[in-house]
Amino acid sequence: MQVRKTIDCRQFPNNPQGCSVTITGREDEVLKAAVRHGRTVHGYPDKPETRAELASAMRPEGPLSAQPGRKVADCRSIPSEINCSLTFSGPEEEVVKVVTEHAVEDHHEPYSPELVKMIRDGLVDETRFQESAPAPGP
Ligand SMILES: [Zn+2]
Ligand SMILES: [Zn+2]
Repeated sequence: MQVRKTIDCRQFPNNPQGCSVTITGREDEVLKAAVRHGRTVHGYPDKPETRAELASAMRPEGPLSAQPGRKVADCRSIPSEINCSLTFSGPEEEVVKVVTEHAVEDHHEPYSPELVKMIRDGLVDETRFQESAPAPGP
C-alpha cells in the first residue's frame, strides 16, 4: 500500500493568514491540492520551486492530533470517478474553502451553493474522525 503523505500549513513560517489547513492523501493528490491552495490562499506562484518546496515539506501520515473545533472532510467517503483519497482538516471555513476548490477543479463538480452546503454538511469533527478511523495495527 502506498504511504499516505500529509502537509500542514502550520509548518510553514511564512503564513501570515494563520492558516492551519492539513491535506493528507497520495503524494500526487496532496501536491496538486497543496499547489492550488498555496496559490489561492497564500499567493504562492505555481512554479517548479514552489512544487519542490511543497514536495519536500510532506511527511508520512501520522496519527491525527485531533483538536476540538477542527473539522475533517474525507473524499474517501464520497463516490468519485477519480478515486480520490484526500482528506482535509482544519477550521470549518478553511476546510470548506479548500474542499470546494478541490471538488470543482479535480472532481469536476459544477460550482453551486448546493455543492458548498453538501461539503459543509459532510464535515465531521476532527476528534470524532480519529475515533472512527481504523485502529492501528500491532
Ligand atoms: Zn493554508
Ligand atoms: Zn477529492
